[in-house]
Amino acid sequence: MKPRLPHEKKTVSFSREAVNVFFHILTRCNLRCAHCYINPDQHGADTLPLETICRWLEAFSPATRRANLILLGGEPTLHPDLALAAAHARKIGYDSITIDTNGYLFNDILDKTGPDTIDYISFSLDGATPETNDAIRGKGSYEACLAGIQKASAKGFATSLIYTVSTANLHELSAMPDLARRLGLSRLFIQVLGIRGKSAGDTTARKDMGQVSRKQWQNEVPAAAQAVADHGIIVTYPKVFLEEGEVFECAGRVADNYFIFPNGRVYRCPLCEDFPIHGLAFENDRLVETPRINEADLFELDIAEGCVMNRLVQPGNLSYRPDGRPEYRIACCLLKEEVRPGKPGRTSI
Ligand code: SF4
Ligand code: SF4
Repeated sequence: MKPRLPHEKKTVSFSREAVNVFFHILTRCNLRCAHCYINPDQHGADTLPLETICRWLEAFSPATRRANLILLGGEPTLHPDLALAAAHARKIGYDSITIDTNGYLFNDILDKTGPDTIDYISFSLDGATPETNDAIRGKGSYEACLAGIQKASAKGFATSLIYTVSTANLHELSAMPDLARRLGLSRLFIQVLGIRGKSAGDTTARKDMGQVSRKQWQNEVPAAAQAVADHGIIVTYPKVFLEEGEVFECAGRVADNYFIFPNGRVYRCPLCEDFPIHGLAFENDRLVETPRINEADLFELDIAEGCVMNRLVQPGNLSYRPDGRPEYRIACCLLKEEVRPGKPGRTSI
């Protein structure tokens, strides 16, 4: 048997060398996932016109620095001009373009754009079986997602998958390596369930879904990532829990990430998205800072628990010693571990 190079596992360090633009071009969606973080009261319900999308894309100066674009919704393929928006992004200098989709691929998107424009089509699937996935994402969504991946691969697109781990699907993570291999994925992104959107408020919608414990996360997620990498697939997952001696960094201070919504709000931190504390906004198609107090004031706070927003919105994942000190710190939700199959190297976000 051919000897296999060991996988390289590393923490992807924050960097200001690249700007990462997460652009929700609409919030409308055909699905009603139990954990959906979209909150129309806070994010708006508009479908942005193409012209507006193009102007807002230009605001991040992609011609003068490395720029990565993730086009999101809602379901972004419901936007009739998604392909034109992606083409414009490429033309003005975005280095990488990803479309995040639930797999239904509306508006014949695969016929209107191509792998020269789109680096990845990223599909969301929350179970290795229809039973588990469809209980979270809705009846028929498993089959639609798998069919979408197959169609995209057949047209030459690189595909990736996002699996949001919760108590409702942790038990199927161990089946993902085989499924990921069969689907021919280039990358797998394991996500942690955030307590925001429906997960924060509507307990009926979220059913029995919750965040997994620290022990469950540490026992299951890194091992699953290694097993997926065994099939030559790059895996990324959030660090979540910092070990003793590891440095805490808030991406709001040291990285360049922007989360844009159709109502013009622009956040630097995903955990702030349920609140009107965005640090930036588009006004007359110009990106401007919002008045204080906003999320930027929170980024400056140093607390023993690590991430300030985690302490405020999902304190259930913290644990304290008898003397009141936290047992561990929670990393920035944007801090990722990456497992690359047998390839040394270094990347930044
Ligand atoms: S596919 Fe995405 S946007 Fe649509 S309901 Fe599910 S989580 Fe929300
Ligand atoms: S998740 Fe926490 S650490 Fe990360 S940007 Fe938000 S406030 Fe900062």
